[in-house]
Amino acid sequence: TQFSELGLAAPLLRALEEAGYSTPTPIQARAIPLVMAGQDLLGIAQTGTGKTAAFALPVLHRLTGRGGRPPRGGCRALVLAPTRELCSQIGESFRTYGKHLGLSVAVIFGGVPHGAQRRALAQGIDILVATPGRLQDHLDAGDARLDRVEVLVLDEADQMLDKGFLPAIRRLLRAVPAGPKGEQPGRQTLFFSATMPGEIGKLAGEMLTSPARVEV
Ligand code: AMP
Repeated sequence: TQFSELGLAAPLLRALEEAGYSTPTPIQARAIPLVMAGQDLLGIAQTGTGKTAAFALPVLHRLTGRGGRPPRGGCRALVLAPTRELCSQIGESFRTYGKHLGLSVAVIFGGVPHGAQRRALAQGIDILVATPGRLQDHLDAGDARLDRVEVLVLDEADQMLDKGFLPAIRRLLRAVPAGPKGEQPGRQTLFFSATMPGEIGKLAGEMLTSPARVEV
């Protein structure tokens, strides 16, 4: 399979070509069509497998398809990751693959002042990448709203468990739209973890609706 066979929007294919990527990695080849079809996804994959692009590309594709400005104080796609380093890398990936799309990307994590993050949120963001604790702070302060999230990504779920973020994630889940129910489309969720301890399987069960499972 080549990226050009996956049905991705032309500006994404152009960005991939400029990045020098022509062939999807196994998780990309399997996950991208499922996510583009609107399915929830349980991805079991380590770092280095290309899992970031496996979710970033179909999320970007989805946001190009439907019009709509980002909601003030909120975002259309929310990616949760356990560390500031990972959030920064994910944000960079969205900027690289999305460079021809004109979508806004913001990265939010703890240990830095709130002001610039608050101002970015106030404008509305297409793609928000955040650690759960700091995002919860912004929600509690009334600076963020998550009621317009169309797609939710949880990356490195097992690391979230190790860092004690599961309670924060469960609180954030109460602020995002529910998943699909009956004929109602609802939020799409993509869930990634390198390992599947019981607690993470339970969290996946709470977050995902009839997910496709991809393990590499
Ligand atoms: P990840 O597993 O998402 O951390 O990605 C691992 C590395 O592989 C990153 O440096 C990516 O830039 C690179 N990468 C991702 N997808 C591809 C691809 N299809 N072809 C070549 N390199 C890739």
